[in-house]
Amino acid sequence: MDPHTKDELLKLFRSKLNAAMRFYLETCTRCGTCVEACHVYASMGQVRYIAAYRHEIVRRIYKKYFKARGKIWPSVGESKELSEMAVEELYDAAYSCTGCRRCMVYCPFGIDTQMLMSIAKLLLIGASAEPEILSLLADTSVEKGKSLEYFKESFLAGIQRLEAEVVKKWQSEAGDQVIPVDVEGADMLYVALAGAHSIIPAAAVFNAAGENWTLSLFEAVNFGAFVGDPTKTKLILDRIVNEAKRLKVKEVCICECGTAYRVMKQLSGKQPFKVTSITEVHNRYLKEERIRVDKRRFPDPVTYHDPCQIARNGGVMDDPRYILSRLTDDFREMAPDPRYNWCCGGGGGLVAMGEDTLDFRMKSSRVKADQVKDTGAAVLATACENCHTQLSNLNDHYKMGVQVRFLSSMLADALIQNG
Ligand code: SF4
Ligand code: SF4
Repeated sequence: MDPHTKDELLKLFRSKLNAAMRFYLETCTRCGTCVEACHVYASMGQVRYIAAYRHEIVRRIYKKYFKARGKIWPSVGESKELSEMAVEELYDAAYSCTGCRRCMVYCPFGIDTQMLMSIAKLLLIGASAEPEILSLLADTSVEKGKSLEYFKESFLAGIQRLEAEVVKKWQSEAGDQVIPVDVEGADMLYVALAGAHSIIPAAAVFNAAGENWTLSLFEAVNFGAFVGDPTKTKLILDRIVNEAKRLKVKEVCICECGTAYRVMKQLSGKQPFKVTSITEVHNRYLKEERIRVDKRRFPDPVTYHDPCQIARNGGVMDDPRYILSRLTDDFREMAPDPRYNWCCGGGGGLVAMGEDTLDFRMKSSRVKADQVKDTGAAVLATACENCHTQLSNLNDHYKMGVQVRFLSSMLADALIQNG
């Protein structure tokens, strides 16, 4: 590696060294408690997929360039030279980790693998070695945000075409505001994904609950976060924050996208609006009796996959269970406990990388497929786009025999008219 590139990468490394990161880099005692915690290791049994092994690649570079012992006496300091080979190892560690943080729950020191892998991802960007598709998706998203006027008209025409589908689920009294867009003074801004499936059921439930809402002009997904680029993550996040401020909403509701929810919740800072996931909002509507649902709509056993970024990393665990208690008499929890739920294996940008990662995603998530099959459920509900895609792939690959459903669409299908 040429000295200039190395210097640039070390600058990037240094930019990540806050107190928490130094603690994670200096604390691992190699106790081995995290060995079985990672679904990739548990499914594939390869040492390189142990959480602490992934950390060690980053940690040894840290020791080499940021700790006196590693600088002076590299062989004793267990340090690693920043080289092309090290970059390859960083790629293997970072893009086989979904950032699910299951290992963090097991680690006695709470060492955060997702944070440590964010160093790896940033170094990969600096070395132009990140997955090209993720950077391309992030760039496209950033560009789209800059030229809102160019796509606004076609966006509005597309939205209008969905309204008849919304009305089929809920006969709205909202007139031509079946899917309101760009409404200043609305109480809630709903940020959806591209695609009717993220808009139609949500709109039906909002209208059924009599919500004063408006649809965001932007997509929720944050490809900047998937590729680990802090600048692009912020650009994509800020346009939603600015839209929410411009429209003076009190609440920003994020659709079923785990990463979008985590980024908005944890990185948007102190704002004049609160941030909720659509699962929390649906839970609230049911508890406040703003909507009514028909339990007979789902007679078969149902289980629920907790999206890591919404549940373990976002704290939303009770809400989906309350919703499901209103949708079915036969809810089957996955063993042992939602806090230790196996990741579906699709996060961290792996699903967005498509066919390139399919074989790895299937092999690395065998334990997830077993966890689902053990419930005996016929319906597998979840609340994240990535998880839904990955679980559908697993369903085909492992012949799980379940119907994979978005929780929000189950709720919309069970709405009782004129509730
Ligand atoms: S964050 Fe998840 S995928 Fe990454 S090492 Fe930990 S358990 Fe494995
Ligand atoms: S559980 Fe924590 S301290 Fe133990 S080996 Fe894993 S990362 Fe290190």
